[in-house]
Amino acid sequence: MKSKIILTAFLSVSLMACAQETPKVKHKKSNTTAKSNTKTMKFVNAVDPICHMPTEPDMKDTAVYKNKTYGFCSSLCKDEFKKNPEKYAQK
Ligand SMILES: [Zn+2]
Repeated sequence: MKSKIILTAFLSVSLMACAQETPKVKHKKSNTTAKSNTKTMKFVNAVDPICHMPTEPDMKDTAVYKNKTYGFCSSLCKDEFKKNPEKYAQK
């Protein structure tokens, strides 16, 4: 008899879990739109001016020079750019 009560309790819990999952999916959709907004940030340079490697929108090493954002593959390239930005900056 007791096992039947436990089973119904389990069923109601799983049903509640299912009901809670539906709004979570909707919430995920709004998150993806927010993520795509950050991905639209692009660098002025298509390639790393130091090593000529193609830049990715999610690169962490960035430098702003004359209101333009430049992306670099590593902090080493970024430091090199900062030493002589006039040489590497796009006109
Ligand atoms: Zn580089």
